[in-house]
Amino acid sequence: MAAPAKPSAPAPASTSASSGAPRPSGGGSSAGPPGRARSRSRAGLVRRRCQWLLSWVPVLFIASILAWSYYAYVAQLCILTMNNIGEKVMCLITYHLFFMMFLWSYWKTIFTLPMNPSKEFHLTYAHKEFLEKEPRSEIHQEILRRAAKDLPIYTRTMSGAIRYCDRCQLVKPDRCHHCSVCDKCILKMDHHCPWVNNCVGFSNYKFFLLFLAYSLLYCLFIAASDLHYFIKFWTNGLPDTQAKFHIMFLFFAAAMFSVSLSSLFGYHCWLVSKNKSTLEAFRAPIFRHGMDKNGFSLGFTKNLLQVFGDEKKLWLLPIFSSQGDGCSFPTCLVNQDLERAVSPAGRSNPNKNENNPHFPSKPLRDSQSHLLTDTQSWTETSASIEKNKLGTSNPALTMENET
Ligand SMILES: [Zn+2]
Ligand SMILES: [Zn+2]
Repeated sequence: MAAPAKPSAPAPASTSASSGAPRPSGGGSSAGPPGRARSRSRAGLVRRRCQWLLSWVPVLFIASILAWSYYAYVAQLCILTMNNIGEKVMCLITYHLFFMMFLWSYWKTIFTLPMNPSKEFHLTYAHKEFLEKEPRSEIHQEILRRAAKDLPIYTRTMSGAIRYCDRCQLVKPDRCHHCSVCDKCILKMDHHCPWVNNCVGFSNYKFFLLFLAYSLLYCLFIAASDLHYFIKFWTNGLPDTQAKFHIMFLFFAAAMFSVSLSSLFGYHCWLVSKNKSTLEAFRAPIFRHGMDKNGFSLGFTKNLLQVFGDEKKLWLLPIFSSQGDGCSFPTCLVNQDLERAVSPAGRSNPNKNENNPHFPSKPLRDSQSHLLTDTQSWTETSASIEKNKLGTSNPALTMENET
């Protein structure tokens, strides 16, 4: 996706020109700095358009391979080479089934917009203004902590601070990360995939998995049904037409893609079984009690349902059916977070939830069935907050700068 247009910063020269510096005699002084700014913004526009075009190259590459494989399999192998009518019909029907599912899931992965955090996570105008004026990071953290008070977030930065995106000016929901390519915060971001020219995250992770599964099945089916004719090619059993070269390359391409896709698909199956994203597999999420690589894991079946949903009939179709809203996730570690364990679910303070109708008790209710004893939770007492207000340096309060 193309990066959104960034506001061009005013040229430093224009500031000095307008601040009373003597101007050279003769006309044209007013056309200088604005002219430069215009040409700079035009250059920026051209660069962004070029980047946008380049970002579609991998998708076009896959689309061209797919188009060629269709021609090679359907026209050259099935129609022109196969003699047995039964085999021809069976191969054509099965091929088109896999082809359609592959295309459908690929299309949905590419064109499903990634979901961004809802407005509850954005800082209010007053908070933003306060942050801009306040240079001390401790006070920043205090403001963020207040902004995040009623939000269903359990993860923290490496240093224990509230996860904040200064680019989008929002408190990051759990499992949300800022994508430097899309220049946006993406809910449950998995990774930015150049092959689909899109961010893979909460909104399209199921589609991405199905895309891997159907593309693997597509390649395996082609390789299996082409194997017999591939052997004939090497034993001179095929007529000397151009079809024989399509048959040979088709087998090589299908076998090669099958190997790479099976390892990628296997890896993502493992991630689903552990309820991890690719980013979380590289860097485990950090909760208030510390890092926990299985912090979001609820057991194999529940982990599977998180991605595929409750309706079994939708599991194999690229139709959205994942559980949750992408902003909050059940975790079995909630009780290690003392602040959260007594807040929005309403056990100790049932009125608190009334202020935040968008986040009902679902995530906590789910997780409180797994309550654990707490010995090492982060407890932020009013004394420590007071200390921060006085400007005492606290390494736990540095902001996360995550891309
Ligand atoms: Zn962001
Ligand atoms: Zn992205």
